[in-house]
Amino acid sequence: MRFSKFLCPTLREDPSEAETASHRLMLRGGMIRQVASGIYTLLPLGLRVIRKVETIVREEMSRAGAQEVFMPAVLPAELWKESGRWDVMGKELLRIKDRNEREFCFGPTHEEIITDLVRREIRSYRDLPRNFFQIQTKFRDEVRPRFGLMRCREFTMKDAYSFDINEEGAKASYDQMYEAYHRIFSRCGLRFSVVDADSGNIGGSQSQEFMVLADSGEDEIIRCPGCGYSANSEKADGVISKIPEAKMPNQMEKRETPGKSTVSDVASFLEVPEGRLIKTLIYKTDTMYLAVLLPGDREVNEIKLKSALQAQHLGLASAQEIQELTGGPLGFSGPVGLKIEKGKIERILVDGLIEKDESYVVGANEKDVHLVGVVAGKDFSMQEVLDLHRTREGDQCVKCQAVLQSDRGIEVGHIFRLGTKYSEIMQATFSDPKGELKPSIMGCYGIGIGRTAAAAIEQNHDARGVIFPPSLAPFDVAVIPVQVTNEDLKREGERLYALLADSGLDVLLDDREESAGAKFKDLDLMGIPGKITVGKKGLAQGKVEVKMRWQEESQFIDPSELVDWVRSIPQAWDTRSSKVA
Ligand code: ATP
Ligand code: MG
Repeated sequence: MRFSKFLCPTLREDPSEAETASHRLMLRGGMIRQVASGIYTLLPLGLRVIRKVETIVREEMSRAGAQEVFMPAVLPAELWKESGRWDVMGKELLRIKDRNEREFCFGPTHEEIITDLVRREIRSYRDLPRNFFQIQTKFRDEVRPRFGLMRCREFTMKDAYSFDINEEGAKASYDQMYEAYHRIFSRCGLRFSVVDADSGNIGGSQSQEFMVLADSGEDEIIRCPGCGYSANSEKADGVISKIPEAKMPNQMEKRETPGKSTVSDVASFLEVPEGRLIKTLIYKTDTMYLAVLLPGDREVNEIKLKSALQAQHLGLASAQEIQELTGGPLGFSGPVGLKIEKGKIERILVDGLIEKDESYVVGANEKDVHLVGVVAGKDFSMQEVLDLHRTREGDQCVKCQAVLQSDRGIEVGHIFRLGTKYSEIMQATFSDPKGELKPSIMGCYGIGIGRTAAAAIEQNHDARGVIFPPSLAPFDVAVIPVQVTNEDLKREGERLYALLADSGLDVLLDDREESAGAKFKDLDLMGIPGKITVGKKGLAQGKVEVKMRWQEESQFIDPSELVDWVRSIPQAWDTRSSKVA
């Protein structure tokens, strides 16, 4: 490729809208341009990187025995209604109508479509197991599209779906994908970890996420240095926690707490530690109201709560609803005397950190009043005790008691064991050796292609620009004649370009009439791993000046060694000493 003909509009300045390194560098490096919020055009340079990721993914999926298919992006509502997800998906699902008023959506994921295919085409245990994958455009109308390709609305995903005849087979299919994902992200040059995850509205029994470690990551990972446990904080198990000592009356008593409605205000006013207060939160789901009790110094993990309730929607009740349900204003709710009634508050869920027979402070369901000396399990019911608190750094691991740590991560891949959630409801059955019909056991496996490329940039850049892992780089090497108006340099540049291209390498020849400094800046920004500078000094000595993107000093080598030098770049990357941010 000749730079003079290549559309790569690099920018000198940082675009103001970009908050993360990958977003900033993909814009500055001329890789992407936004068309609408969360919707992008990939320019030639960006597309080259995306294709590299896709090739690695495709190779490893095929190696793991998955077959490639290509499903449509526009999907009929009927299939989504059949699975029950048409109503569950909410506004993330972009719904459209055709000229006949028939309902469709842009596919955000394809469980329904593949299950429909398999129920039609696969009927016997002899045809299983099977795993199908595609690399295809998804659309999710995200609430907050941001960070460029990291969280967009239209994006490319590799999604795969496995079908097995029994749990054992399903586990083996899952493990195969786990291995394939390991190979994929290793080949992409990423530092990642695998964590336990919540299954969200996709459903199923087990799921794990592949997280690229980066400070800009949207996810928090909880990690135990003692036993190796690691999980997304959305999913992380509860912790061990001792309730703090406090003086408390033996009997339940009322206390005036004028205007004190927050945990910290009440705790300091009554001179008790926050951990001796019980927060009573009134939630509503699609079907009912409920109260959630947890220690005052803890936060609710709403993802855990939502999955414990198997609720589609979950939110806090309004101040007015709280007044009607409890008789008291927001900030003064408590479990004592709270009526459980159909249509009103139907359940009281107590977090596992609240200890039976211990005394606490709670709201009195009355303006400006709290109750002290309230005994858990005696003054209010503890029939439903669940793990509902959010785990955080510094907590003690329930498994081994070590102190938990936290990291930021970017979720690039997600693997699920789905069981029969879709095959049962959509009747994707096969006949077993006895001729009985059984639902197949499914798994599903996603990788965000653009997000993986963005994550690679988050982990590999410096002040000058991107430092692409060679496996994802848009070109293997760039040849830069420092002055194209000099015929000798120009001729030598052309010669090296032809030599390298003929050896099967991806080469960019910077044949633009720019200053050497401007060219070097652009190429550093673009992150091409190998740089060959064609200047007077090298030419006079019969040598070629070469440098890898992450090295500080260039070296002069014999032209006969040039192809080998380019081919040695990936290995040099793997063993480089100065690993970058
Ligand atoms: P997130 O929690 O980040 O929204 P998710 O759990 O909704 O992700 P999945 O449904 O598991 O994601 O999708 C599979 C993969 O697709 C994710 O691991 C991620 O790499 C990618 N992905 C999901 N949403 C987006 C998005 N809005 N933009 C880019 N990639 C995405
Ligand atoms: Mg999502």
